[in-house]
Amino acid sequence: MSEGLLADKTGLVMGVANQRSLAWSIVVAAARQGARVAVTYLDERLRRRVDRLAGEVELAGAYRCDVADDDAVRETFDDITRDLGGLDFLVHSIAFAKKEELEGGFVDTSRDGFSLAHDVSVYSLVAATRAVRPLMAGRPGGGSVLTLTFQGSERVFPGYNVMGVAKSSLEGTVRYLAHDLGSESIRVNAVSAGPIKTLASSAVPGVSRMREVMAEKAPLRRNVDAPEVADAAVFLLSDMARGVTGEVLHVDAGYHVMGY
Ligand code: NAD
Repeated sequence: MSEGLLADKTGLVMGVANQRSLAWSIVVAAARQGARVAVTYLDERLRRRVDRLAGEVELAGAYRCDVADDDAVRETFDDITRDLGGLDFLVHSIAFAKKEELEGGFVDTSRDGFSLAHDVSVYSLVAATRAVRPLMAGRPGGGSVLTLTFQGSERVFPGYNVMGVAKSSLEGTVRYLAHDLGSESIRVNAVSAGPIKTLASSAVPGVSRMREVMAEKAPLRRNVDAPEVADAAVFLLSDMARGVTGEVLHVDAGYHVMGY
């Protein structure tokens, strides 16, 4: 029997690209709290990186999964069902937009770029939640699904463009999924993280400037780091948050409460 907030829980964290990935920080924090954790990664190129990371935390499994491909999602969850049986939590830490959509104005977003960003960054949460639903049936504490969002959903961060609109949709998706699955004791929440340097955020113009402004203006007068985001994620995944669903928890040193 393990110890910690996630003792005896098994979870899947989707979206590990490298050591800086928020997904990886959540794996580390969840394992530290007693969870058995499996991960997904996008493609074979990332497989070697995940293998190297597996030296730091013993993983319950590592599965390739391109969320833009329905067959790949089905196969991944079939494999997980075979290998792990059931899951207590799922973390969705995946987003993508074409580089050109993050340059210039949002008004110039292409139809393709709009669809792709929403498909990979938002629809994937719907698909993954549907796939995990039977694996969470009958788990003692119910199930917990968590995604990662950014305040660009609520306010304009020039350059965040279509990702901001996709994050608004992602947060709406959290609320609708929370309603659909609440009667099955499956909770669905999001953490809205402050800007942190990762592979994905390096594609967003001005992320360094965002961090400077946040450090100056946020109530805590500093930025947040990945372990802080991961600890809040662990709370939402754990039974400590058993009364919380449909929520967007800001882990941004309080920046979102400021008027100017
Ligand atoms: P990251 O680059 O480490 O993670 C993004 C992940 O998405 C990568 O693992 C990538 O392989 C995966 N991905 C992209 N397309 C995919 C596809 N088709 N199928 C499967 N996986 C795919 O960067 P991150 O910053 O850790 O991002 C994780 C999440 O956190 C994203 O949703 C991001 O928007 C969100 N977030 C990040 C920040 C930040 O400042 N870093 C702030 C708030 C929210």
